[in-house]
Amino acid sequence: VTGSVTFANGFARDVPEMAVPWRAEPFPDARLVVLNEPLARELGFDPAFLRTPEGVKLLCGAALGDGAVPVAQAYAGHQFGGYSPRLGDGRALLLGDVADAHGDRRDIHLKGSGPTPFARAGDGFAALGPMLREYLISEAMHALGIPSTRSLAVIATGATVYRETALPGAMLVRVASSHLRVGSFQYAAATRDPDLLVRLVRHAIDRHHPELAEADNPPLALFEAVRDAQAALVAQWMLVGFVHGVMNTDNMTISGETIDYGPCAFMEAFDPGAVYSSIDVDGRYAYGNQPSIAAWSLARLAETLLPVFDEDRSQALALAQQALDAFGPRYSAAWTAGFLAKLGLGAGADEDLTTSLIGDLLSLLRADHVDHTSFFRALGEAARGRPEPVRRLFLDLGAIDAWIERWRGLGPDASAMDAVNPVYIPRNHLVEEALTAATDGDLGPFERLLDAVSTPYVERAGFERYAEPAPQDFGAYRTFC
Ligand code: AMP
Ligand code: MG
Ligand code: MG
Repeated sequence: VTGSVTFANGFARDVPEMAVPWRAEPFPDARLVVLNEPLARELGFDPAFLRTPEGVKLLCGAALGDGAVPVAQAYAGHQFGGYSPRLGDGRALLLGDVADAHGDRRDIHLKGSGPTPFARAGDGFAALGPMLREYLISEAMHALGIPSTRSLAVIATGATVYRETALPGAMLVRVASSHLRVGSFQYAAATRDPDLLVRLVRHAIDRHHPELAEADNPPLALFEAVRDAQAALVAQWMLVGFVHGVMNTDNMTISGETIDYGPCAFMEAFDPGAVYSSIDVDGRYAYGNQPSIAAWSLARLAETLLPVFDEDRSQALALAQQALDAFGPRYSAAWTAGFLAKLGLGAGADEDLTTSLIGDLLSLLRADHVDHTSFFRALGEAARGRPEPVRRLFLDLGAIDAWIERWRGLGPDASAMDAVNPVYIPRNHLVEEALTAATDGDLGPFERLLDAVSTPYVERAGFERYAEPAPQDFGAYRTFC
């Protein structure tokens, strides 16, 4: 089949040692559940074609597009701090890369396409609920303006997968500017084949930063670009209250896109210790730990690149350390600028005043378990002289009134605030409601929630419940991957 889109195989061409040719499991009863029509068009697909039986075959890897050579990608990774030399695509396949409407290369990737040689103890499959979850949250992140892998489609396989119970099986068609991860570099470095590492670095530069091929030290320049993209990304997670949940090095991209929506969640009551993943028992990936975990993972990336930073080991270490040391300041600058924007304050505000203002606010939010998203949106109203929606969120009214007075003294710009403080995020109770209904065959709640989070900054009549925190009886939220 053609579907008029031609696939290339840049990854398999440049680093064939890391690409195992493989085919998706055939699913004769595969059925399209959700299709991202705007994204399909952006990639050059005709959405009407993708809805035909031939199109569905293309989407689930049963028929190959022009030039497509599906491969399972090899990678390694630190999972919860412990190193695994061989992870890889256990239930996923890269169909190839296509040129999008802007001429950029985008990977078309299947998740839940059957066991590969990397499957280890896993069955290679995925259930409908988690694939819809990734679709919903990745598209919400994109709509929020946060770099993310995208979701082109979810396909029900027609097969049953077994978790705690029997569940409908599904596949996600994921789109990413690449699937290169820190773990890809760990894998290449562990082979001790210097040529493989050099080719992987060249491939990453070619894919993401072609201008860096001319840099004095291209591998170092690549590392610095990854560092800066991750500093900016994690700052955006923190500003919106996103908890990734499984920041293993195989889940950190070179592109700076958020990847792998497993046990993630959006924080409601502000709490640096917020953890949702059932398996993160020590809170390694708690909300407040995310910046330092990102720095830790970047240190693992730098280690893999030492041999290509400089042939002199101590010189290579010095370059790596210097580059790593810049993560903290870059992250802080991105976070502070973003936080000031959420407060309606420009970069010109007095730094000492804003630093104490921000610190005091975080203490107040934490002390009163204030809903992060509701607070910032309501603050736009307070900037217009209507403090009641903010005051309703606090117990200690004296403290918040005093804070509001200090803040208003700095002259916040209300009109700019609504563009950076979302009304709608994929709230945990609504996500669960939508996925439970979808698993039972009713896609209505999923589609309405997707609609709400697709225009997160624009308040709309009829969507009131999508702006509300979870009811008390929803209890403590736990995610499973
Ligand atoms: P994750 O924690 O989602 O980043 O996945 C870590 C590793 O486990 C990757 O190598 C995945 O391909 C693999 N994996 C996760 N679930 C399955 C599954 N059901 N079958 C096979 N491999 C899996
Ligand atoms: Mg992963
Ligand atoms: Mg996962």
